Amino acid sequence: MNWYTEQWSKDCRFSIAYDKALYSEKSPFQQIDFYQGTEFGTFFTLDGLMMVNEKDEFIYHDMIVHPAFATNPNIKSVLIIGGGDGGTAREVLRYPTVEEVVMVEIDERVFRLCQEYLPLTAKGVEEDNRMNLIFDDGLAYVKNAKNESFDLILVDSTDPISVGEGLFTTAFYKECYRVLKEDGILINQHESPYFSEYATNMKKAHKKIKDIFPITNVYQYHMPTYPSGHWLFGFASKTLDPIKDLKKEAWTDFGLQTKYYNTDLHVGAFNLPNYVREALIRG
Ligand code: SAM
Repeated sequence: MNWYTEQWSKDCRFSIAYDKALYSEKSPFQQIDFYQGTEFGTFFTLDGLMMVNEKDEFIYHDMIVHPAFATNPNIKSVLIIGGGDGGTAREVLRYPTVEEVVMVEIDERVFRLCQEYLPLTAKGVEEDNRMNLIFDDGLAYVKNAKNESFDLILVDSTDPISVGEGLFTTAFYKECYRVLKEDGILINQHESPYFSEYATNMKKAHKKIKDIFPITNVYQYHMPTYPSGHWLFGFASKTLDPIKDLKKEAWTDFGLQTKYYNTDLHVGAFNLPNYVREALIRG
């Protein structure tokens, strides 16, 4: 048995078993590794950090996509930043209201390799005629995007290190505000509250977004293979509140089968533990 091991904090490591290493490459942006896992199926890592595996990807991809559609069931134009494995696009493309999806992934190799090794998330995404796939830096893309051109922006990024750093800056969040429509929604990777390095990232990201958007919330999901298993997304909007504006019936009418998300869980997810609430308020 082989073990893939990741350092979660100074004093904590996480390991999962794999049968064989499938592929390894250093792209111009990052180290990419694919493994054939035992319990977790095929998984891939970027710069030695777990990105996606076949067993728990549904949790992440349900939660990055569906809460926004249950708050505004009339989303037509979507911008995905990052998301090279295709899982976020896969979930967005399930909505018949969606007319256009622009996905801006900095590293084409992630997308191409996921098509080969991770069809569960990547298959069919490129073929959908609503998809506009761009291989570029997300920050550069939003700087040049038109005012009020998207209903939804989903930031499906790596952590705020290396290529992902620009996606956690005030400059980026300001551009997101500008390119979102009046009832637009921004969902962004909000890190994790538990280990201190991630909690610091969480607080910094939240403060920056709070200074720009009038409505900001944070919601949680449980991801077994991400550090501590307790992860967050940020929800920001100019006008929509994810609880007051939740449209349970409209979302149920879509008839989507989801393995993690439901509209009762939606309400629970925005109700954070006290230590997380306090950390977000204190900053
Ligand atoms: N689910 C994962 C997680 O949170 O661990 C994230 C998915 S992973 C596919 C994130 C993607 O963001 C990577 O493919 C990476 O190349 C891309 N990315 C990082 N920085 C980016 C940037 N500045 N612009 C566009 N894509 C970026």
